[in-house]
Amino acid sequence: MDFEYSDKMKELQAKVRAFMDEHIYPIEHEWLAHQKDPSTMWTPWPQIEDIKAKAKEAGLWNLFLPKEYGKISPGLTTLEYAPLAEEMGRVMGSSEFFNCSAPDTGNMEVLAKYGTPEQQERWLKPLLDGEIRSAFAMTEPDVASSDATNIETSIIRDGDDYVVNGRKWWISGAMDPRTKVFILLGKTPDADRARHQQHSQILIPADTPGIEIVRPLSVVGSFHGPSGHAEMVFRDVRVPKENLILGEGRGFEVAQGRLGPGRIHHCMRAIGLAQRSLEYMARRVESRVAFGRKLSDQSSIRQDVALSFCEIEQARLLTLKAADAMDRHGNKVAKDLIAAIKIVAPRMAQTVIDRAIQSFGGMGVGPDTPLAAAFVNARHLRIADGPDEVHMSQLGKMKIAKFNDGGPHR
Ligand SMILES: Cc1cc2nc3c(=O)[nH]c(=O)nc-3n(C[C@H](O)[C@H](O)[C@H](O)COP(=O)(O)OP(=O)(O)OC[C@H]3O[C@@H](n4cnc5c(N)ncnc54)[C@H](O)[C@@H]3O)c2cc1C
Repeated sequence: MDFEYSDKMKELQAKVRAFMDEHIYPIEHEWLAHQKDPSTMWTPWPQIEDIKAKAKEAGLWNLFLPKEYGKISPGLTTLEYAPLAEEMGRVMGSSEFFNCSAPDTGNMEVLAKYGTPEQQERWLKPLLDGEIRSAFAMTEPDVASSDATNIETSIIRDGDDYVVNGRKWWISGAMDPRTKVFILLGKTPDADRARHQQHSQILIPADTPGIEIVRPLSVVGSFHGPSGHAEMVFRDVRVPKENLILGEGRGFEVAQGRLGPGRIHHCMRAIGLAQRSLEYMARRVESRVAFGRKLSDQSSIRQDVALSFCEIEQARLLTLKAADAMDRHGNKVAKDLIAAIKIVAPRMAQTVIDRAIQSFGGMGVGPDTPLAAAFVNARHLRIADGPDEVHMSQLGKMKIAKFNDGGPHR
């Protein structure tokens, strides 16, 4: 077993690092201030398109897309993408500069895998070019959406159209003026089909009449502009039947195309966030003196640094193992490792960032370091894309079945 990154991975990692050093760290403060200011937060930062153009020119574009879509991306494996996503994860939201941010990435994977040529031409092409953004609308306030078979929004056939009715919330990207399309998961009821074949996914242009943004939702007080997370109502929203993806009753089949990669990408970025927080902590404790000695001379502080290093390394290795399994055996076979890392990485990041915050004292929870926002980010990752308990329940079930079948231990 070789734990070294390949030469290709090292070269790409160095390129992403250099790009971040030149174009992203220097503007981080100004960019985040724009996103927090109530007068500007719902508009894209004016310089973002210039920096995206530079990333595209440097070949650091659509890095997340796996190799079967090699003509429109560098064609990296999930494993090769891991250290690059980790670099991007160091600055929250920076994956957008590389056209690698959720929920666009999942939507692009879905369209690339299951879209018709017409759907790909109209929506995938501008998404791959970074000209528009998109959102994924599944979660609903009225039902426990971690069990997606509960989703109630209706998608009903009417002549050559489908008509959509329902209320959604936590729809990331819905507030962004650049978001031009929603992929919505709703119910196409059919008494002859099984519980997992009652739902479908459909493309809804953002300017379709009947779509109402009710309100932006804050995440522990932050609005995450300009993308945001919206509560919204779809009222008699009518789209042509050609907008359905893959076919009626196949919504969960389509969902499988986005969930595995999307989940592990979150984990890769969470590792970057934790790593940067640890570096912040290490520098702070070396320069701060309390009770006559540097904080870094306190054994409890050294323990916090040591434990954080261990936990980041553990999560990184598990992420790489899951990524490698996805590449070699497919997302379906790797689903236990994907669940495992989705349980491990956000918790690890939350713990490490919490220690870093503590080492900064009051400054740690204030506006002058990225730590407080990083903590909130790690916290919400334990809910978004499936709460921890759902992954644990599924992983536990898989392992109990496997060990009872006498299957090989991995
Ligand atoms: C910042 C953010 C962004 C999001 N972005 C999007 C988006 O873009 N699109 C979208 O559709 N959704 C999005 N979501 C929604 C997210 O996916 C859901 O919140 C999540 O799936 C949980 O669904 P729920 O909120 O309905 O919780 P519920 O289903 O009501 O679950 C509540 C809690 O019950 C517990 N629970 C559930 N199942 C089990 C179990 N089997 N065993 C034990 N305990 C259990 C868990 O602790 C869970 O947190 C986002 C959420 C957040 C916070």
